[in-house]
Amino acid sequence: MRTCDPSQCPICKGTAKRFRKGNFDAYVVICDRCGDFGITDTALVNIRGEYFSEREIANASGWLRENQGYEITSYNADGLKNINPISYSERADRLLRKIGKVTSFAGEEVKIDSSWISSAWCAHEKEMRSLLNFLSESDLVVVNGPLPEYQTVVVRPNGWMRIDDLSKVGSAGDQGFVAMWFDQSMSEAYAVAISKAIADAGYRPHRVDNREHNGKIDDEIVSEIRKSRFVVADFSGHRGGVYYEAGFAKCLGIEVFWTCREDYFKELHFDIRQYNCIEWKMNELDEFRQRLRFRIESVLGQGPVKK
Ligand SMILES: [Zn+2]
Repeated sequence: MRTCDPSQCPICKGTAKRFRKGNFDAYVVICDRCGDFGITDTALVNIRGEYFSEREIANASGWLRENQGYEITSYNADGLKNINPISYSERADRLLRKIGKVTSFAGEEVKIDSSWISSAWCAHEKEMRSLLNFLSESDLVVVNGPLPEYQTVVVRPNGWMRIDDLSKVGSAGDQGFVAMWFDQSMSEAYAVAISKAIADAGYRPHRVDNREHNGKIDDEIVSEIRKSRFVVADFSGHRGGVYYEAGFAKCLGIEVFWTCREDYFKELHFDIRQYNCIEWKMNELDEFRQRLRFRIESVLGQGPVKK
């Protein structure tokens, strides 16, 4: 492991920085393309020997971008290699949303940025530019400038309307948003049970990152919850953010599935116990996975994502 280049991202092989994560046997990686994520020592060794195709790297890197702060362990590294691919039009939508996000006023020309490659789950700059052409031919953006390095892009009115549509409630019909405590003790439950249950039921798990809320809910979280088909809210640790996110989803009429680890179950707020909360145990994660999967399928049916 010591010979492994610390300035190289273990996923995309691009430029990255790596730091020891406190006293844990893990690193924090900050990569230009994948953003920031954690990786345990064992996962680092396993991944190094593993072959990721160009498309698998694009998917893993795009997925990590959307799930900042995710910790790659030897339990979930396999899942990262087998992320469900997204379609061409979904990549184009992500690119358009990214351009919208970095535009500060309608009509502003923004410089085309190579960091958009992972925002749009692209394999390389060439693919990102092909998506830009597609957006331009669909009358959603205008690309200006003669040479690639001087090029800028402007979102057109149709593009803004498309961005609005994409942020409507339930617009990402295959997404299951996960609201939970970001604690080391929860990583395995997320990797082995929660994210797998959502994928087994035919949906795409989505967890934003591990920022603390400080009483203020993040715009990105709000927009991701709005788009989601449902929310899985896990109350272990009784984090304020989880109560807030579940309440927000409920308020929008989005289905919420309630779960809690046994040692926190007793202190669960009475209102939530009413909701038939799944109580789970650390040593029975397989059972938790099954129960959550059946709960999702019995309320919403099988989702559209094929495994
Ligand atoms: Zn990377």
